[in-house]
Amino acid sequence: MDKNQILKEFSSDPDKYYNVKLFQEQGFVRKSCSKCGRFFWTLDSNRTLCPDDGTDTYSFIGEPPTTKRFDYTQAWKQVEEFFVKNNHTSVSRYPVVCRWRDDLYFTIASIVDFQRIMGSKVVFEFPANPLVVPQTCLRFKDLENVGVTGRHFSSFCMIGQHSVPNNQGYWKDECVDLDYRLLTDQFGIKKEEVVFVEDVWAGGGSFGPSLEYFVRGLELGNAVFTEFQGELGQHTTLDQRVIDMGAGLERFAWITMGTPTAYDCCFGPINEKLFNKIGIDSDSEILRKYFTEIAKEIDNYDDLNQVRRLAIKNAGITDSQLTKMITPMEGMYLIADHLRTLIFAITDGALPSNVGGGYNLRMMLRRINATVSKLNLKLDIDDLIDTHIDYLKDTYPELDEKREDVKQILKIESARYEESKVHMKKKAEKIREKGTPTVDELITFYESDGITPEYLKEVDAIAEVPSSFYSKLSDLHQSEKKKAITELPLEKLPETETLFYKDDPMEFEAKVIKVFDDQVVLDKTSFYARGGGQEPDHGSIAGFEVVDVDKHADIIVHKLKGGTPNEGDTVQCKVDATRRSNITKNHTSTHIINTSARSVLGSWVWQHSAFKDDDHARLDITHHSSLNDEQVKQIEDAANKMIKDNYPVKIEYFDRGTAEQQYGFRIYQGGVVPVKSVRIVSIEDKDIEACGGTHVKKTGDIELIKITKTKRIQDGVVRLEFVSGPNAFEYVKEQEEESKKKEQQAIEKQQLEKQREENKDKAREKIPVFIEKILAGESLDSEEINSKGKLCFTSSENYDDYFNQNFGKKLVAKTTLQHFVEFLKRSNYTGNDICR
Ligand SMILES: [Zn+2]
Ligand SMILES: [Zn+2]
Repeated sequence: MDKNQILKEFSSDPDKYYNVKLFQEQGFVRKSCSKCGRFFWTLDSNRTLCPDDGTDTYSFIGEPPTTKRFDYTQAWKQVEEFFVKNNHTSVSRYPVVCRWRDDLYFTIASIVDFQRIMGSKVVFEFPANPLVVPQTCLRFKDLENVGVTGRHFSSFCMIGQHSVPNNQGYWKDECVDLDYRLLTDQFGIKKEEVVFVEDVWAGGGSFGPSLEYFVRGLELGNAVFTEFQGELGQHTTLDQRVIDMGAGLERFAWITMGTPTAYDCCFGPINEKLFNKIGIDSDSEILRKYFTEIAKEIDNYDDLNQVRRLAIKNAGITDSQLTKMITPMEGMYLIADHLRTLIFAITDGALPSNVGGGYNLRMMLRRINATVSKLNLKLDIDDLIDTHIDYLKDTYPELDEKREDVKQILKIESARYEESKVHMKKKAEKIREKGTPTVDELITFYESDGITPEYLKEVDAIAEVPSSFYSKLSDLHQSEKKKAITELPLEKLPETETLFYKDDPMEFEAKVIKVFDDQVVLDKTSFYARGGGQEPDHGSIAGFEVVDVDKHADIIVHKLKGGTPNEGDTVQCKVDATRRSNITKNHTSTHIINTSARSVLGSWVWQHSAFKDDDHARLDITHHSSLNDEQVKQIEDAANKMIKDNYPVKIEYFDRGTAEQQYGFRIYQGGVVPVKSVRIVSIEDKDIEACGGTHVKKTGDIELIKITKTKRIQDGVVRLEFVSGPNAFEYVKEQEEESKKKEQQAIEKQQLEKQREENKDKAREKIPVFIEKILAGESLDSEEINSKGKLCFTSSENYDDYFNQNFGKKLVAKTTLQHFVEFLKRSNYTGNDICR
């Protein structure tokens, strides 16, 4: 949808779309910017320019428009106090890892918290109405601006003010009135300073007008009224209109503090720590001038370096000031920003890796490390993490709990980077020699060696990162996910009644409502269909073997072998109860191992994927390194402790919003659940997951879990293979037999060794005696040795190789000498003697 078209349409009827009650009451006038033509609302009738073009732009730097000063955390307190006072519920932030949407890795706006995707539709789950939330949002689009422009962050706090117009919530008039009073009453900004600009918002099939509010050229917030759906002109009003006001908390702090950059008032005491390292006072006239220039010009140029050069010129900065002040400061801001983002992401369970969203985290830590080494800094990262968290924990107490986890992950990741550097450097040299690689080659370097194109650019192995690299990479991973969906003739069939969610009988009667090829659809079934990593039930329908069961939307299809019943038949069905019982034990075991692994390894452990068959199962978890024997044992012990404690496994249905509020997003271990009613499987408070699988009634029913193998299968993912129930006992028995066999073999080997030693001793005694006898011409028949004439041999088992070889050697040595003497005497040497 063309935004400009919508804006033109809406602005042509301002009374309908933009003219709120506040504008009338206060006497706001509507103006068109004399430079860009955009419409804005102001109390200053002399104003001719919109905030972007105004002469007052960024004049708050060094001269804030408020008498009160609020830093980042204080600014939130002000906002929260204001909205709570005005009947809003203050909601805690949602995770920055967006577990409830499979189209997003990270939470990018406050409204995302409440959006759920159902098919192609977006629906909302608001835990309260109206509400306000300090939502940490991660955005990696403008990483090169971070630390440089004074106002770009890799993560920021979006103040989300949300309301659904009904008997509790409100619509446009009240929203704009609240935002205006927040600025003027709560923050003490003069009424004339506030300017509202007409704009529109469009996305995900819906759109609506919006009013952006500015103070001295700084956009503080944007109130979006999501109102319509469809194509402009043929649009209709949404069933659920929503107010989506998002404001930047960092900017609220900045405007009251008037510091050269927003970074100076948003990172707390960490700045001071960092600046002490480089001996710079961030509060200087020259910096104020420099960053004001940057802020003013940033939107006018595409090239950031051009903006920098201009600001350097206009602020009168010398080359030495640039290298001594600006460059180190940009580095410090970058470190503070990236570290803060990493703290939020890791706290919420994300891991730096080469996959998906983890890639951005890895990239940020590498940028921190590169900056530290470029500026030759001695930094205690743990101390910086503590400083950040101490400052933020009042607003975000959850950060405090994960402090050590964050430190551990960053330490491991940094060490890994240092290790890989040597390898990466060598590879980069080869690439440089060979000439520019293709995008496909770059993808191979990235996937198999973990070498990013950014790194190759940094070391001048390539000139540019190809713009198609990441889209191609994501396509590659996308197509892996795509499953071939075969078209089945299932139209107009009724939903199959799922008995396995009810009484779950192992034998039942059902009506055949559709037969095609070897597939059968019943009106109801107890056969569990493949789903959520759980393999299907087997058994028989009307005497025919059931070999597969799949679910297509709400219809369950059974695949039979040996024939099919007729449509309309009422048939006897029998589920293979042993197979089902084994699969069920494996499924509950997956939940148990998942939570056990988390308790042993750390909070970053999430289910990545799982598979449960009747004789084996596996769980892939997110973890940074391979597991050692000790960790595997600890996980297994923790799992068997849960079995021993015999906890009940409870299954309950919840409204999705209620489930999320009550249990948090940990419930989405198996991924997003696109239904309104969520099936929650809980083992006390130890493991609570949204899950559609079959489960034992009590953990004790599993009896035993054995982990059979673990393996790091990809960057950040470890696979645990395991068996449970009868299969676990079988495994233990096999293991025992195996170890008994090994023990027996060891004993036998030892005995053999002993025997050999004894034989050696015996041989050493006997050989000289036998030789004496042979030389004396005596018979050795009694010793089972045949020595007739020049031949001497034995086939007796009583003598081993050692004896034979040594006896032979020694005998030859003796007899050769003797025979040589004889030969000289008789001169009839035949040459055969040497055989002896
Ligand atoms: Zn303008
Ligand atoms: Zn499950």
